[in-house]
Amino acid sequence: MTGALPLLGGGAEKSHNGQFEFEQMIESLHELFEHDRQVASQSDATRCGICYLHFPVAELHYREEGLYLCPQCERTLGNQKLTVVRKQQKL
Ligand SMILES: [Zn+2]
Repeated sequence: MTGALPLLGGGAEKSHNGQFEFEQMIESLHELFEHDRQVASQSDATRCGICYLHFPVAELHYREEGLYLCPQCERTLGNQKLTVVRKQQKL
């Protein structure tokens, strides 16, 4: 039980850093959404079925499970089988 105190102290320090990381995260999300809006306004753009960001269709890979994957999600998922709840229309 004595180990609880140092843990609490560490936790307080961590939340301070967490605040900083949170602001950075918001900042990068802003840039991400800004970029996403630009891509979405292009006529050949569609969403990745995993992260829901827009990409030109040419950059997406249509999986046999019935959804588009962006290069990043494809790399993350690899050959993992997906359970698709809402299939995407293949363009
Ligand atoms: Zn994605």
